[in-house]
Amino acid sequence: MIEIIRKNNICIKANDKKVFLDPTISESFSFISHAHEDHLPEIIVDEPFCTQETFELIKAKNPSFKANIVKIGKKINFDDFSVEFLEAGHILGSSQIFLEFDGLSILYSGDIKTFGLTAGKYRVKNADILIMESTYGLPIYKFPSVEEIISELEKIFNNENNFSLFGYQLGKAQDIVKILNMIGIEPTVTKSVKTYCDVYKNFGIDIKFTEEKTNIIVRPTSLISKFIGDENSIVFTGWSLTRDFGIKSLPLSDHCDFYQLLDYIVEVSPKKIYVVHGFVYEFCKEIEKNLGIEAIPFSYDISNTSLYSFFSRNQ
Ligand SMILES: [Zn+2]
Repeated sequence: MIEIIRKNNICIKANDKKVFLDPTISESFSFISHAHEDHLPEIIVDEPFCTQETFELIKAKNPSFKANIVKIGKKINFDDFSVEFLEAGHILGSSQIFLEFDGLSILYSGDIKTFGLTAGKYRVKNADILIMESTYGLPIYKFPSVEEIISELEKIFNNENNFSLFGYQLGKAQDIVKILNMIGIEPTVTKSVKTYCDVYKNFGIDIKFTEEKTNIIVRPTSLISKFIGDENSIVFTGWSLTRDFGIKSLPLSDHCDFYQLLDYIVEVSPKKIYVVHGFVYEFCKEIEKNLGIEAIPFSYDISNTSLYSFFSRNQ
């Protein structure tokens, strides 16, 4: 019998084995989808498994971090189950985690972006059960293309002023640098952004930036509060469609929008879906309305009262 439980983030129980996905406490067997802090363990009992890229990104801020390295696209067999990491397109090294237990396949999306700019190329596999995020799981979240973002940026830019561009320092900031490179700009990056840009470059991602002062600076979003009201500051985030940040904003995200999430589900073609993050209740209703697939809101607030059990599909 296989059980999926909302405990220590996500736990899959198969007979006497426990598998943890992006757990808070890393114990055997734990798998980390990517290097964003909200997906990392706070306590390590047993070393988790992650990609080389994720390992290096975590080590850039936490040099004592240790892990078992997994190669993307290479299946690993354990006694009662197998694991394969698949590119998620969200940030460098980000992965979906594909597991097989005695004929039952489970795909965990981690954070997903089906059209990434500086991450690996997203790839998908069919699975019986999909455990997925829904950060932008409402129909209002429809993101423009990169070309449209570039066109908006070019309207804002002029040669006279200095501009500060804000994005999350890991993932988004590198996308911003890439977009600027696409229009012939090699921006200045702040120290914390550079730390991650250097790891990207070490893995062969083609981004060009400088520490010399230029009139366009890419800064981490943590510094926005110092720039509120500044006409020459722009933040890049999917939330710009519904929130006011006190400066200009453009909807560039490293997550799927609502429509891309639905397309992703169609590609995975699961029989059942657990939604673990974002607008879980609303998105489950949308899945059932648009795709007719059973979808279960799997937030922490039901973790202690609900256990969902699965038998193999033949039973
Ligand atoms: Zn993330």
